Amino acid sequence: MNVASTHPILATRDILGVPVLAATAGEAVAAIEARLARGERIKLAFLNAHTSNLAAADDGFRTLLGDFTVLNDGVGVDLASRVLHGERFPENLNGTDFTPRLLAESKRPLRLFLLGARPGVADEAAAALLRLAPQHTIAGTRHGYFAPSEATAVAAEIAAAKPDVLLVALGNPGQERFIQAQFDRLGVPLAIGVGALFDFLAGRVSRAPGWVRGLRAEWLYRLWREPKRLWRRYVLGNFKFISRLLWARAARRRMPASAPLA
Ligand code: UDP
Repeated sequence: MNVASTHPILATRDILGVPVLAATAGEAVAAIEARLARGERIKLAFLNAHTSNLAAADDGFRTLLGDFTVLNDGVGVDLASRVLHGERFPENLNGTDFTPRLLAESKRPLRLFLLGARPGVADEAAAALLRLAPQHTIAGTRHGYFAPSEATAVAAEIAAAKPDVLLVALGNPGQERFIQAQFDRLGVPLAIGVGALFDFLAGRVSRAPGWVRGLRAEWLYRLWREPKRLWRRYVLGNFKFISRLLWARAARRRMPASAPLA
């Protein structure tokens, strides 16, 4: 049976200028696998309130995200879906949970390359990923602290390792920019911008307890752990995001209803 033909094309929802896939985790995994099986190459990113704000402030970044398959991450983007489209996203698909799930569910053995985080972290994250998804192998790892002038050489090093999946943890928007700029050189079928995933997998940064995640308040936990670094992103950033959302809703209400066709 041809898997690709059994999965309908999933719809996207515009979230403040960025099209975001509306799917459950299972549907998203199936759709990605089907597209890869058809020989498509995929760039995957996750949109949360912070990345949405970055996209609003930078046309280049917003345009670039249009070339990515974008999944919804967090309560802010979910609220935006409810306000702008009248319904929530089917499931929260943050990269920290979705990426390991995608790899764990992929039966075909894959070669993984992990790029990013501080020296040593990607190796520990790779070992943790193999415990979750032992069918795969590691094509290589590399830390994420290199000068922009080294990006092409880093991409060539990754291409030489011939991975099937590249995980890029350089923070936003650096990781998406790297994937976009180097995609042809990399040649990899699937590249994913994964944020702080390696730090979590390596146990360098602790995740919120399950009940906090259940309340969709992981960002509050992260803010509590790293207030100095993150207050601007979460406190100011969330205020900015909500303001943009209310503005978009007000603008929509001001738009005249379309006239019926004669
Ligand atoms: N990072 C990196 N190179 C950089 C900046 C960040 O490798 O130049 C790594 C950082 O060590 C961390 C990951 O990117 O592992 C995500 O960074 P951050 O926590 O700032 O991003 P978030 O996912 O929270 O948006």
